[in-house]
Amino acid sequence: LEPAYQFMLRVVAPGGVATSAQWLEMDRLAQLYGNGTLRITTRQAFQMHGVLKWNLKKTIKSINDSLMTTLAACGDVNRNVMSNPNPYQSDVHGEVYEWARRISDHLSPRTPAYHEIWLDGEKVVDSLADQPEVEPIYGPVYLPRKFKIGLAVPPSNDVDVFSQDLGFIAIIEDNKLVGFNVTVGGGMGMTHGDTNTYPQLGRVIGFCKPEQLIDVAEKTVTIQRDYGNRSVRKNARFKYTIDRHGIEWFTEELYDRLGWQLEAARDFYFEHNGDRYGWIKGSNGRWNLTLYVQSGRIHDQEGYELMTGLREIAKIHTGDFRLTPNQNLIIANITTAKKRKIMELAQQYGLTDGAHHSALRRSSLSCVALPTCGLAMAEAERYLPLLLDKLELVIDEAGLRDKEIVIRMTGCPNGCARPALGEISFIGKSPGKYNMYLGAGFTGDRLNKIYRENIGEDEILSLLTPMLHHYAKERQSGEHFGDFVIRAGYVKAVTSGLNFHNV
Ligand code: SF4
Repeated sequence: LEPAYQFMLRVVAPGGVATSAQWLEMDRLAQLYGNGTLRITTRQAFQMHGVLKWNLKKTIKSINDSLMTTLAACGDVNRNVMSNPNPYQSDVHGEVYEWARRISDHLSPRTPAYHEIWLDGEKVVDSLADQPEVEPIYGPVYLPRKFKIGLAVPPSNDVDVFSQDLGFIAIIEDNKLVGFNVTVGGGMGMTHGDTNTYPQLGRVIGFCKPEQLIDVAEKTVTIQRDYGNRSVRKNARFKYTIDRHGIEWFTEELYDRLGWQLEAARDFYFEHNGDRYGWIKGSNGRWNLTLYVQSGRIHDQEGYELMTGLREIAKIHTGDFRLTPNQNLIIANITTAKKRKIMELAQQYGLTDGAHHSALRRSSLSCVALPTCGLAMAEAERYLPLLLDKLELVIDEAGLRDKEIVIRMTGCPNGCARPALGEISFIGKSPGKYNMYLGAGFTGDRLNKIYRENIGEDEILSLLTPMLHHYAKERQSGEHFGDFVIRAGYVKAVTSGLNFHNV
Protein backbone atom coordinates (compact mmCIF):
# COMPACT_ATOMS: atom_id res chain seq x y z
CA LEU A 1 0.00 0.00 0.00
CA GLU A 2 1.48 3.38 -1.00
CA PRO A 3 1.06 6.40 1.31
CA ALA A 4 -1.32 9.08 -0.02
CA TYR A 5 1.37 11.64 -0.84
CA GLN A 6 -0.13 14.95 -1.83
CA PHE A 7 1.34 17.75 -3.91
CA MET A 8 0.96 21.40 -4.76
CA LEU A 9 0.68 22.29 -8.43
CA ARG A 10 1.56 25.78 -9.62
CA VAL A 11 0.20 26.86 -12.98
CA VAL A 12 1.93 29.52 -15.06
CA ALA A 13 -0.25 32.40 -16.25
CA PRO A 14 1.92 35.18 -17.76
CA GLY A 15 0.56 38.52 -16.58
CA GLY A 16 -2.04 36.58 -14.57
CA VAL A 17 -4.49 36.40 -17.48
CA ALA A 18 -6.87 33.44 -17.85
CA THR A 19 -9.92 32.98 -20.06
CA SER A 20 -13.29 32.00 -18.62
CA ALA A 21 -12.79 28.49 -20.02
CA GLN A 22 -9.43 28.23 -18.27
CA TRP A 23 -10.95 29.53 -15.02
CA LEU A 24 -13.67 26.90 -15.19
CA GLU A 25 -11.10 24.18 -15.85
CA MET A 26 -8.95 25.23 -12.88
CA ASP A 27 -12.10 25.25 -10.73
CA ARG A 28 -13.11 21.78 -11.98
CA LEU A 29 -9.66 20.32 -11.34
CA ALA A 30 -9.50 21.86 -7.87
CA GLN A 31 -12.80 20.15 -6.99
CA LEU A 32 -11.92 16.87 -8.67
CA TYR A 33 -8.27 16.39 -7.73
CA GLY A 34 -7.31 19.23 -5.34
CA ASN A 35 -8.56 20.27 -1.93
CA GLY A 36 -11.54 22.16 -3.37
CA THR A 37 -9.82 25.55 -3.25
CA LEU A 38 -7.56 27.59 -5.54
CA ARG A 39 -4.95 30.10 -4.60
CA ILE A 40 -3.80 33.22 -6.44
CA THR A 41 -0.07 33.54 -5.81
CA THR A 42 1.90 36.76 -5.36
CA ARG A 43 3.33 36.12 -8.85
CA GLN A 44 -0.08 36.00 -10.56
CA ALA A 45 -0.03 32.22 -10.92
CA PHE A 46 -2.58 29.61 -9.78
CA GLN A 47 -1.77 27.18 -6.99
CA MET A 48 -3.76 24.04 -6.41
CA HIS A 49 -3.13 22.18 -3.16
CA GLY A 50 -3.80 18.62 -2.05
CA VAL A 51 -3.35 16.80 -5.37
CA LEU A 52 -2.71 13.14 -4.60
CA LYS A 53 0.26 11.51 -6.26
CA TRP A 54 -1.82 9.15 -8.38
CA ASN A 55 -3.88 12.10 -9.69
CA LEU A 56 -0.86 14.25 -10.55
CA LYS A 57 -0.42 13.15 -14.15
CA LYS A 58 -4.07 13.47 -15.15
CA THR A 59 -4.29 16.90 -13.47
CA ILE A 60 -1.21 18.16 -15.35
CA LYS A 61 -2.55 16.70 -18.60
CA SER A 62 -5.89 18.48 -18.12
CA ILE A 63 -4.11 21.75 -17.37
CA ASN A 64 -2.12 21.40 -20.59
CA ASP A 65 -5.27 20.50 -22.53
CA SER A 66 -6.66 23.89 -21.47
CA LEU A 67 -3.52 25.56 -22.92
CA MET A 68 -1.95 26.32 -19.56
CA THR A 69 1.10 24.66 -18.08
CA THR A 70 2.97 23.89 -14.89
CA LEU A 71 6.27 23.99 -16.84
CA ALA A 72 8.70 26.54 -15.30
CA ALA A 73 6.29 27.49 -12.52
CA CYS A 74 9.06 26.20 -10.23
CA GLY A 75 12.75 25.41 -10.66
CA ASP A 76 15.97 27.19 -11.57
CA VAL A 77 14.57 28.88 -14.66
CA ASN A 78 12.62 32.02 -15.43
CA ARG A 79 9.37 31.93 -13.39
CA ASN A 80 5.90 33.29 -14.18
CA VAL A 81 6.39 36.68 -15.85
CA MET A 82 4.42 39.31 -13.97
CA SER A 83 2.63 42.19 -15.62
CA ASN A 84 0.42 45.00 -14.41
CA PRO A 85 -3.21 43.88 -14.94
CA ASN A 86 -4.16 47.49 -15.69
CA PRO A 87 -7.92 47.70 -16.22
CA TYR A 88 -7.71 51.45 -16.90
CA GLN A 89 -5.79 51.60 -20.17
CA SER A 90 -6.95 48.69 -22.27
CA ASP A 91 -4.59 49.33 -25.21
CA VAL A 92 -1.50 49.65 -23.01
CA HIS A 93 -2.49 46.58 -21.02
CA GLY A 94 -2.88 44.59 -24.20
CA GLU A 95 0.56 45.59 -25.41
CA VAL A 96 2.41 45.14 -22.10
CA TYR A 97 0.65 41.81 -21.49
CA GLU A 98 1.66 40.66 -24.96
CA TRP A 99 5.32 41.45 -24.16
CA ALA A 100 5.03 39.56 -20.86
CA ARG A 101 3.66 36.57 -22.75
CA ARG A 102 6.43 36.75 -25.35
CA ILE A 103 9.17 36.94 -22.70
CA SER A 104 7.55 33.96 -20.98
CA ASP A 105 7.45 31.93 -24.20
CA HIS A 106 10.99 32.91 -25.16
CA LEU A 107 12.46 31.92 -21.78
CA SER A 108 10.41 28.77 -21.40
CA PRO A 109 12.62 25.66 -21.11
CA ARG A 110 12.77 23.74 -24.39
CA THR A 111 13.29 20.33 -22.84
CA PRO A 112 10.95 17.64 -24.15
CA ALA A 113 11.31 15.84 -20.79
CA TYR A 114 8.27 17.62 -19.33
CA HIS A 115 6.06 16.36 -22.14
CA GLU A 116 7.55 12.91 -22.04
CA ILE A 117 7.05 12.54 -18.29
CA TRP A 118 3.69 14.22 -17.82
CA LEU A 119 2.03 14.14 -21.23
CA ASP A 120 3.22 10.84 -22.63
CA GLY A 121 5.32 12.66 -25.19
CA GLU A 122 2.39 14.64 -26.55
CA LYS A 123 3.10 18.17 -27.79
CA VAL A 124 -0.08 20.04 -26.90
CA VAL A 125 0.91 23.53 -28.02
CA ASP A 126 2.24 24.06 -31.54
CA SER A 127 5.00 26.37 -30.33
CA LEU A 128 6.32 23.54 -28.17
CA ALA A 129 6.39 21.00 -30.97
CA ASP A 130 9.62 19.73 -32.51
CA GLN A 131 11.71 21.11 -29.69
CA PRO A 132 15.44 20.54 -29.91
CA GLU A 133 17.11 18.35 -27.33
CA VAL A 134 19.29 21.25 -26.12
CA GLU A 135 18.40 24.33 -24.09
CA PRO A 136 19.55 27.26 -26.25
CA ILE A 137 19.31 29.78 -23.39
CA TYR A 138 19.73 27.74 -20.22
CA GLY A 139 22.38 25.30 -21.46
CA PRO A 140 22.93 21.88 -19.91
CA VAL A 141 22.86 22.99 -16.25
CA TYR A 142 20.10 25.65 -16.27
CA LEU A 143 20.39 28.69 -13.94
CA PRO A 144 22.06 28.71 -10.52
CA ARG A 145 18.67 29.71 -9.00
CA LYS A 146 15.19 30.84 -9.97
CA PHE A 147 14.86 34.04 -12.00
CA LYS A 148 12.00 36.55 -11.77
CA ILE A 149 10.80 39.15 -14.26
CA GLY A 150 8.03 41.75 -13.90
CA LEU A 151 6.60 44.54 -16.06
CA ALA A 152 5.14 47.60 -14.32
CA VAL A 153 2.90 50.26 -15.83
CA PRO A 154 3.19 53.54 -13.87
CA PRO A 155 1.63 55.01 -11.83
CA SER A 156 1.04 51.49 -10.43
CA ASN A 157 3.97 49.49 -9.12
CA ASP A 158 1.75 46.53 -8.24
CA VAL A 159 4.31 44.06 -9.62
CA ASP A 160 6.87 45.48 -7.17
CA VAL A 161 9.25 45.96 -10.06
CA PHE A 162 12.21 46.66 -7.76
CA SER A 163 11.81 43.22 -6.19
CA GLN A 164 12.39 41.49 -9.54
CA ASP A 165 15.67 40.08 -10.82
CA LEU A 166 14.83 41.88 -14.04
CA GLY A 167 12.15 44.56 -14.25
CA PHE A 168 10.66 46.63 -17.02
CA ILE A 169 8.88 49.92 -16.33
CA ALA A 170 6.57 50.89 -19.18
CA ILE A 171 7.14 54.39 -20.52
CA ILE A 172 3.98 55.83 -21.98
CA GLU A 173 4.03 59.05 -23.99
CA ASP A 174 0.90 60.52 -25.62
CA ASN A 175 -0.99 57.41 -24.46
CA LYS A 176 1.35 55.17 -26.42
CA LEU A 177 3.86 52.62 -25.16
CA VAL A 178 7.24 53.88 -26.36
CA GLY A 179 9.46 51.47 -24.44
CA PHE A 180 10.65 50.35 -21.03
CA ASN A 181 13.13 51.41 -18.39
CA VAL A 182 15.16 48.37 -17.36
CA THR A 183 15.84 47.46 -13.71
CA VAL A 184 18.20 44.72 -12.55
CA GLY A 185 19.25 42.98 -9.37
CA GLY A 186 16.19 43.03 -7.09
CA GLY A 187 15.15 40.13 -4.88
CA MET A 188 13.43 39.45 -1.58
CA GLY A 189 14.81 36.26 -0.08
CA MET A 190 17.33 35.97 2.75
CA THR A 191 18.23 33.56 5.54
CA HIS A 192 17.66 34.33 9.22
CA GLY A 193 20.97 35.01 10.97
CA ASP A 194 23.08 35.05 7.79
CA THR A 195 24.13 38.62 6.98
CA ASN A 196 25.62 37.50 3.66
CA THR A 197 22.01 37.21 2.53
CA TYR A 198 19.67 40.18 2.23
CA PRO A 199 16.74 41.57 0.22
CA GLN A 200 17.76 44.01 -2.48
CA LEU A 201 16.15 46.63 -4.73
CA GLY A 202 16.52 46.53 -8.49
CA ARG A 203 18.37 49.48 -10.01
CA VAL A 204 17.34 51.35 -13.16
CA ILE A 205 20.07 50.99 -15.82
CA GLY A 206 18.52 52.51 -18.94
CA PHE A 207 15.73 52.43 -21.51
CA CYS A 208 14.95 50.08 -24.37
CA LYS A 209 12.35 50.03 -27.14
CA PRO A 210 9.63 47.37 -26.99
CA GLU A 211 11.17 45.37 -29.83
CA GLN A 212 14.46 45.21 -27.88
CA LEU A 213 12.85 43.75 -24.77
CA ILE A 214 13.32 40.06 -25.52
CA ASP A 215 16.97 40.58 -26.40
CA VAL A 216 17.59 42.40 -23.09
CA ALA A 217 15.78 39.64 -21.16
CA GLU A 218 17.63 36.82 -22.89
CA LYS A 219 21.09 38.35 -22.55
CA THR A 220 20.49 39.21 -18.88
CA VAL A 221 19.48 35.63 -18.16
CA THR A 222 22.60 34.32 -19.91
CA ILE A 223 24.83 36.61 -17.81
CA GLN A 224 23.30 35.13 -14.65
CA ARG A 225 23.67 31.66 -16.15
CA ASP A 226 27.39 32.25 -16.71
CA TYR A 227 28.30 34.29 -13.61
CA GLY A 228 25.80 33.26 -10.92
CA ASN A 229 27.28 31.57 -7.86
CA ARG A 230 26.85 27.81 -8.30
CA SER A 231 28.89 26.91 -5.22
CA VAL A 232 26.82 28.62 -2.52
CA ARG A 233 23.10 28.28 -3.19
CA LYS A 234 22.19 30.96 -0.64
CA ASN A 235 24.19 33.47 -2.69
CA ALA A 236 23.15 32.20 -6.09
CA ARG A 237 20.40 34.71 -6.95
CA PHE A 238 21.09 37.36 -9.58
CA LYS A 239 21.12 40.20 -6.99
CA TYR A 240 24.28 38.74 -5.46
CA THR A 241 25.91 38.37 -8.89
CA ILE A 242 25.26 42.07 -9.53
CA ASP A 243 26.40 43.17 -6.08
CA ARG A 244 29.55 41.05 -6.30
CA HIS A 245 30.62 42.42 -9.69
CA GLY A 246 28.95 45.87 -9.69
CA ILE A 247 26.33 47.50 -11.89
CA GLU A 248 28.97 48.97 -14.25
CA TRP A 249 30.39 45.49 -14.90
CA PHE A 250 26.90 44.19 -15.59
CA THR A 251 25.97 46.93 -18.08
CA GLU A 252 29.27 46.46 -19.94
CA GLU A 253 28.69 42.71 -20.09
CA LEU A 254 25.12 43.28 -21.24
CA TYR A 255 26.15 45.73 -23.98
CA ASP A 256 28.83 43.30 -25.13
CA ARG A 257 26.29 40.53 -25.55
CA LEU A 258 23.63 42.80 -27.05
CA GLY A 259 25.98 44.55 -29.48
CA TRP A 260 24.14 47.81 -28.72
CA GLN A 261 23.51 50.05 -25.70
CA LEU A 262 20.46 51.05 -23.73
CA GLU A 263 19.35 54.67 -23.96
CA ALA A 264 19.28 56.88 -20.86
CA ALA A 265 16.41 55.97 -18.52
CA ARG A 266 13.26 58.07 -18.96
CA ASP A 267 11.25 59.74 -16.18
CA PHE A 268 8.57 57.72 -14.44
CA TYR A 269 6.46 58.12 -11.34
CA PHE A 270 4.86 55.48 -9.11
CA GLU A 271 1.93 56.28 -6.80
CA HIS A 272 1.42 52.94 -5.04
CA ASN A 273 2.03 49.20 -5.22
CA GLY A 274 -1.50 48.08 -4.30
CA ASP A 275 -4.73 47.40 -6.18
CA ARG A 276 -7.68 49.71 -6.79
CA TYR A 277 -11.00 47.99 -6.10
CA GLY A 278 -14.47 48.14 -7.61
CA TRP A 279 -15.83 48.96 -11.07
CA ILE A 280 -13.71 50.76 -13.64
CA LYS A 281 -14.46 51.49 -17.27
CA GLY A 282 -11.47 50.80 -19.50
CA SER A 283 -10.37 52.89 -22.47
CA ASN A 284 -12.04 50.32 -24.77
CA GLY A 285 -15.44 51.03 -23.19
CA ARG A 286 -15.58 47.66 -21.39
CA TRP A 287 -15.96 47.22 -17.66
CA ASN A 288 -13.61 45.73 -15.08
CA LEU A 289 -14.43 44.63 -11.55
CA THR A 290 -11.51 44.29 -9.12
CA LEU A 291 -12.36 42.04 -6.16
CA TYR A 292 -10.47 41.81 -2.89
CA VAL A 293 -9.42 38.20 -2.19
CA GLN A 294 -7.95 37.66 1.24
CA SER A 295 -4.52 36.02 0.91
CA GLY A 296 -5.48 34.99 -2.62
CA ARG A 297 -7.52 32.00 -1.41
CA ILE A 298 -10.51 31.12 -3.59
CA HIS A 299 -13.00 29.10 -1.56
CA ASP A 300 -16.55 29.25 -0.25
CA GLN A 301 -17.39 30.53 3.21
CA GLU A 302 -20.77 31.20 4.77
CA GLY A 303 -22.20 34.35 3.17
CA TYR A 304 -19.12 34.72 0.94
CA GLU A 305 -19.23 32.04 -1.74
CA LEU A 306 -16.24 33.20 -3.73
CA MET A 307 -15.55 29.96 -5.56
CA THR A 308 -19.17 29.34 -6.52
CA GLY A 309 -19.75 32.96 -7.46
CA LEU A 310 -16.71 33.11 -9.72
CA ARG A 311 -17.74 29.81 -11.34
CA GLU A 312 -21.18 31.22 -12.13
CA ILE A 313 -19.62 34.40 -13.50
CA ALA A 314 -17.13 32.43 -15.63
CA LYS A 315 -20.04 30.54 -17.22
CA ILE A 316 -21.35 33.76 -18.80
CA HIS A 317 -18.29 36.04 -18.91
CA THR A 318 -16.85 36.65 -22.38
CA GLY A 319 -13.84 38.72 -21.23
CA ASP A 320 -10.95 37.47 -19.11
CA PHE A 321 -9.86 37.00 -15.51
CA ARG A 322 -6.72 38.74 -14.26
CA LEU A 323 -4.86 37.50 -11.21
CA THR A 324 -3.23 40.53 -9.64
CA PRO A 325 0.26 40.66 -8.06
CA ASN A 326 -1.50 41.48 -4.77
CA GLN A 327 -3.42 38.18 -4.88
CA ASN A 328 -6.68 39.83 -5.90
CA LEU A 329 -8.81 39.22 -8.96
CA ILE A 330 -10.05 41.40 -11.80
CA ILE A 331 -13.02 40.24 -13.82
CA ALA A 332 -11.92 42.12 -16.90
CA ASN A 333 -13.31 43.22 -20.24
CA ILE A 334 -16.96 42.89 -19.25
CA THR A 335 -19.30 43.96 -22.01
CA THR A 336 -21.99 46.51 -21.17
CA ALA A 337 -24.57 43.83 -21.97
CA LYS A 338 -23.11 41.49 -19.32
CA LYS A 339 -22.34 44.12 -16.68
CA ARG A 340 -25.70 44.02 -14.89
CA LYS A 341 -25.79 40.21 -14.71
CA ILE A 342 -22.21 39.99 -13.43
CA MET A 343 -22.92 42.72 -10.87
CA GLU A 344 -25.96 40.75 -9.67
CA LEU A 345 -23.97 37.53 -9.39
CA ALA A 346 -21.15 39.30 -7.53
CA GLN A 347 -23.66 40.70 -5.05
CA GLN A 348 -25.61 37.44 -4.74
CA TYR A 349 -22.51 35.51 -3.68
CA GLY A 350 -21.10 38.29 -1.49
CA LEU A 351 -18.04 38.87 -3.69
CA THR A 352 -18.06 42.65 -3.36
CA ASP A 353 -18.22 42.59 0.44
CA GLY A 354 -14.43 43.04 0.48
CA ALA A 355 -15.04 46.71 -0.32
CA HIS A 356 -16.14 47.12 3.31
CA HIS A 357 -12.85 45.88 4.74
CA SER A 358 -10.36 48.34 6.18
CA ALA A 359 -7.74 49.78 3.83
CA LEU A 360 -5.13 48.02 5.99
CA ARG A 361 -6.68 44.59 5.24
CA ARG A 362 -7.07 45.46 1.57
CA SER A 363 -3.34 46.32 1.50
CA SER A 364 -2.28 43.01 3.04
CA LEU A 365 -0.32 40.20 1.46
CA SER A 366 0.68 36.83 2.83
CA CYS A 367 2.35 33.70 1.56
CA VAL A 368 0.77 30.30 1.99
CA ALA A 369 3.17 29.05 4.74
CA LEU A 370 1.78 26.36 7.08
CA PRO A 371 0.45 23.74 6.61
CA THR A 372 1.35 23.25 2.94
CA CYS A 373 4.76 24.92 2.52
CA GLY A 374 7.56 22.70 3.72
CA LEU A 375 9.85 25.69 4.39
CA ALA A 376 7.44 27.55 6.67
CA MET A 377 8.56 28.27 10.23
CA ALA A 378 5.31 30.02 11.21
CA GLU A 379 1.77 30.70 9.98
CA ALA A 380 1.03 33.41 7.40
CA GLU A 381 -2.12 32.90 5.26
CA ARG A 382 -4.12 31.46 8.18
CA TYR A 383 -2.84 33.88 10.83
CA LEU A 384 -2.61 37.29 9.15
CA PRO A 385 -6.44 37.66 8.91
CA LEU A 386 -6.71 37.01 12.67
CA LEU A 387 -4.00 39.56 13.46
CA LEU A 388 -5.78 42.03 11.16
CA ASP A 389 -9.02 41.52 13.15
CA LYS A 390 -7.16 42.85 16.19
CA LEU A 391 -5.27 45.60 14.36
CA GLU A 392 -8.54 46.82 12.84
CA LEU A 393 -9.78 47.64 16.36
CA VAL A 394 -6.68 49.81 16.79
CA ILE A 395 -6.94 51.60 13.46
CA ASP A 396 -10.68 52.21 13.98
CA GLU A 397 -9.91 53.83 17.31
CA ALA A 398 -7.11 55.87 15.70
CA GLY A 399 -9.31 56.97 12.77
CA LEU A 400 -7.15 55.19 10.19
CA ARG A 401 -9.74 52.83 8.68
CA ASP A 402 -9.37 54.30 5.20
CA LYS A 403 -5.61 54.76 5.32
CA GLU A 404 -3.70 52.34 3.14
CA ILE A 405 -0.77 50.81 5.00
CA VAL A 406 1.06 48.00 3.21
CA ILE A 407 1.27 45.03 5.61
CA ARG A 408 2.84 41.69 4.69
CA MET A 409 3.55 38.37 6.36
CA THR A 410 5.54 35.31 5.35
CA GLY A 411 6.20 32.05 7.13
CA CYS A 412 9.95 32.16 6.41
CA PRO A 413 12.54 34.61 5.03
CA ASN A 414 12.34 33.25 1.47
CA GLY A 415 10.11 36.24 0.92
CA CYS A 416 7.32 34.94 -1.35
CA ALA A 417 4.95 37.75 -0.31
CA ARG A 418 7.72 40.35 -0.83
CA PRO A 419 7.90 41.16 2.89
CA ALA A 420 10.93 43.48 2.61
CA LEU A 421 8.62 45.92 0.82
CA GLY A 422 5.92 46.08 3.52
CA GLU A 423 5.50 49.28 5.51
CA ILE A 424 4.81 46.77 8.30
CA SER A 425 6.05 43.21 7.83
CA PHE A 426 6.37 39.98 9.72
CA ILE A 427 8.68 37.11 8.83
CA GLY A 428 8.17 33.83 10.67
CA LYS A 429 10.87 32.50 13.01
CA SER A 430 9.03 29.71 14.82
CA PRO A 431 5.36 28.88 15.50
CA GLY A 432 3.70 32.09 16.77
CA LYS A 433 6.92 34.15 16.60
CA TYR A 434 7.95 36.69 13.99
CA ASN A 435 10.62 39.23 13.20
CA MET A 436 8.90 42.59 12.72
CA TYR A 437 10.07 45.07 10.07
CA LEU A 438 9.03 48.68 9.46
CA GLY A 439 9.57 51.50 7.03
CA ALA A 440 9.36 50.31 3.40
CA GLY A 441 8.26 52.85 0.81
CA PHE A 442 4.56 52.95 -0.09
CA THR A 443 5.45 52.70 -3.77
CA GLY A 444 7.80 49.73 -3.28
CA ASP A 445 10.96 51.81 -3.73
CA ARG A 446 12.57 51.39 -0.28
CA LEU A 447 13.30 48.32 1.85
CA ASN A 448 12.09 48.02 5.42
CA LYS A 449 14.25 47.57 8.52
CA ILE A 450 14.09 45.08 11.37
CA TYR A 451 12.41 46.61 14.41
CA ARG A 452 11.94 43.67 16.79
CA GLU A 453 13.08 40.06 16.71
CA ASN A 454 11.17 36.92 17.57
CA ILE A 455 7.98 38.45 18.99
CA GLY A 456 4.48 37.05 19.43
CA GLU A 457 1.03 38.58 19.09
CA ASP A 458 0.90 40.36 22.46
CA GLU A 459 4.13 42.21 21.78
CA ILE A 460 3.13 42.97 18.19
CA LEU A 461 -0.06 44.62 19.39
CA SER A 462 1.59 46.45 22.26
CA LEU A 463 4.21 47.88 19.87
CA LEU A 464 1.89 48.76 17.02
CA THR A 465 -0.96 50.26 19.05
CA PRO A 466 0.89 53.38 20.27
CA MET A 467 2.76 53.66 16.98
CA LEU A 468 -0.46 53.74 14.93
CA HIS A 469 -1.96 56.34 17.31
CA HIS A 470 1.24 58.36 17.03
CA TYR A 471 0.95 58.19 13.23
CA ALA A 472 -2.73 59.20 13.35
CA LYS A 473 -1.94 62.28 15.45
CA GLU A 474 1.37 63.50 14.03
CA ARG A 475 1.53 62.47 10.40
CA GLN A 476 2.08 65.20 7.88
CA SER A 477 -0.27 65.78 4.98
CA GLY A 478 -0.06 62.82 2.60
CA GLU A 479 2.64 61.13 4.68
CA HIS A 480 2.61 57.34 4.44
CA PHE A 481 3.19 55.11 7.45
CA GLY A 482 6.51 53.80 6.10
CA ASP A 483 7.84 57.35 5.76
CA PHE A 484 6.45 58.38 9.16
CA VAL A 485 8.20 55.62 11.12
CA ILE A 486 11.50 56.81 9.65
CA ARG A 487 10.84 60.51 10.34
CA ALA A 488 9.65 59.69 13.86
CA GLY A 489 12.84 57.70 14.52
CA TYR A 490 11.40 54.19 14.94
CA VAL A 491 13.74 52.82 12.22
CA LYS A 492 16.32 54.13 9.77
CA ALA A 493 15.73 54.22 6.01
CA VAL A 494 17.21 51.32 4.01
CA THR A 495 17.73 52.25 0.37
CA SER A 496 20.04 49.36 -0.55
CA GLY A 497 20.15 45.74 0.51
CA LEU A 498 23.87 46.20 1.16
CA ASN A 499 22.84 48.26 4.22
CA PHE A 500 19.90 46.06 5.23
CA HIS A 501 21.67 44.58 8.26
CA ASN A 502 23.70 47.55 9.39
CA VAL A 503 22.10 51.02 9.00
FE1 SF4 B 1 7.57 31.15 0.56
FE2 SF4 B 1 8.65 30.78 2.97
FE3 SF4 B 1 6.10 31.45 2.71
FE4 SF4 B 1 6.92 29.02 2.07
S1 SF4 B 1 6.90 29.94 4.10
S2 SF4 B 1 5.51 30.29 0.89
S3 SF4 B 1 8.93 29.49 1.16
S4 SF4 B 1 7.89 32.70 2.15
